[in-house]
Amino acid sequence: MKQKETLLSTQLNGLTVEEIGDEHVGTSYDTPMKADAFDMDDELKMNLIEDKFRDIMEIMGLDLTDDSLSGTPKRVAKMYIKEIFSGLNPANKPKVALFENKYKYNEMLVEKDITFYSNCEHHFVPIIGKAHVAYISTGNVIGLSKINRIVEYYAKRPQVQERLTVQIANELKEVMGTEDVAVVIDAEHLCVSSRGVKDVNSSTVTAQFHGKFKEEATRREFLGYINTKK
Ligand SMILES: [Zn+2]
Repeated sequence: MKQKETLLSTQLNGLTVEEIGDEHVGTSYDTPMKADAFDMDDELKMNLIEDKFRDIMEIMGLDLTDDSLSGTPKRVAKMYIKEIFSGLNPANKPKVALFENKYKYNEMLVEKDITFYSNCEHHFVPIIGKAHVAYISTGNVIGLSKINRIVEYYAKRPQVQERLTVQIANELKEVMGTEDVAVVIDAEHLCVSSRGVKDVNSSTVTAQFHGKFKEEATRREFLGYINTKK
């Protein structure tokens, strides 16, 4: 489960490579889901979440007859199911079409600075970060926007950063049909910056290097690209 590379601390200048606290260590590469996770449809889930969230607000003593608060349980329920946790549902997985480009054979393609928004599964507060993704083409390429969609899909779950990194890398290996994939994620965890230790300057870097990216020269080339300012 240790995905962090010591190399990163010297390569990613200006970024703090930080240990995530014990309470942030995930247990599995797969998001832990119940077998009956999708027996209920979205409509039913939203209705139930709305009820439960209303309970939470009422327990905290909020007056749900107030105009500003009365619609909140419904809004939160919709946001959970249709937006920020929509990546739990495999039906929302992006469909990726490959197209052939012989000129790109054996070339490294890097898409960097993909901004994503996720949520920490331990506190349900935001993780905001950038993903840098690369693969070495076997002659097939995918539209760059599809890489963003893959990142977004896995980000839209309750997450731990290490698992997000692994899930994106595995998906890319699968769709590209190659082992030569690298993913680096640099993210701020609001559960660290806005509460608890309130460290506003730290960010967490995780990385997955597969195939040729395990080789020093290839890895260095990739890290060089992602450190280049636009
Ligand atoms: Zn957290």
